[in-house]
Amino acid sequence: MSTLDFEITRNENPVSAEDRAGILADPGWGQHFTDHMITIRYHKDKGWHDAKLEPYGPITLDPASQVLHYAQELFEGLKAYRQADGSIVTFRPYANAARMNASAQRMAMPEIPEELFVEAIDLLVSTDRDWVPTTEGHSLYLRPFMFATTRLLGVNQPANEYLFMIIASPSGNYYSRGIKPVTVWLSQDYTRAAPGGTGAAKTGGNYAASFAGQAQAVENGCDQVVWLDAVEHRWVEEVGSMNLMFVYGSGPQPRILTPALTGTLLPGITRDSMLRLAPDLGIQVEEGKINIDEWQHGCESGELTEVFGCGTAAIISPVGAVKGADRAWAIGDGEPGPISMRLREELIGIQFGRRPDTYGWIHKIA
Ligand SMILES: *Cc1c(COP(=O)(O)O)cnc(C)c1O
Repeated sequence: MSTLDFEITRNENPVSAEDRAGILADPGWGQHFTDHMITIRYHKDKGWHDAKLEPYGPITLDPASQVLHYAQELFEGLKAYRQADGSIVTFRPYANAARMNASAQRMAMPEIPEELFVEAIDLLVSTDRDWVPTTEGHSLYLRPFMFATTRLLGVNQPANEYLFMIIASPSGNYYSRGIKPVTVWLSQDYTRAAPGGTGAAKTGGNYAASFAGQAQAVENGCDQVVWLDAVEHRWVEEVGSMNLMFVYGSGPQPRILTPALTGTLLPGITRDSMLRLAPDLGIQVEEGKINIDEWQHGCESGELTEVFGCGTAAIISPVGAVKGADRAWAIGDGEPGPISMRLREELIGIQFGRRPDTYGWIHKIA
């Protein structure tokens, strides 16, 4: 049942089949967009209204739009996957809807009905279905987002009006030349999130605040930044925009430790999926705490065998080396570890329909 009727305006000048094939041959990441987008408006007095599927293109904003000044914004990220029989599915879209609403609560923004969120994704993906890659491992990245549009420079209240949108971008393999472990920088100067702050909300401001730390990582010859807790600067929280997993032991009884969701970490859906899948593969899981000394000593003693970041974009990103102002160490032998790859295969297998969907995570679109 439709929660709102969508007004549909077809793009009269879609990208030609030939140009689209060229883009899909080498989509890169987040650079190309499909022919359509979703817009849904919200007003405090009217609720959600004006749902549209329309041609992808620029939007007009009043210069006093609240988001441009006070950053009331949030976003989500998920993917649509082409199955072997040509059909298309998304992965746990209701989990993204629920997380968007959790972010909305923190940002004093309106919640969107989960059905409407998922229906809007389905409509966009089925309209732009020719944009869902058929190449092994490629997918259509979906970016729902919402921001405050009220003309308002007053700072003591949230906006009354919001725009929710969804855009879609074909995405290739995050690692175009095979999965290579990254080197990460321990950020002592910057923090991503503090207790009571917005670290658990998927809001653009967290990213804006992270670029200086990321730049410092690059200046120090690293690929990404490891975020430590804001209070003691030694408890490990996340890497770049991914959650972290620490693998202990490689023999018959491997164990995974991941930092617990303390309120300063973003609750990743990939993280959650891996915590559910690992025990099925005979891997114990634990949500807890790990500090940088324990990380270093664990690697030096050989007890800690693999470390990887996980998120929708890259799925997993093995960490091969760690650097900080006063220390540096390596993890494993510079190749992705077997447990990391086993979990990756399992998750991708479910997403592309090669493995049974035991948990009901797959949402069929068309
Ligand atoms: C989105 C995000 C993640 C990963 O979440 P997934 O749902 O697994 O994609 C992790 N950390 C941060 C900071 C994020 O923004």
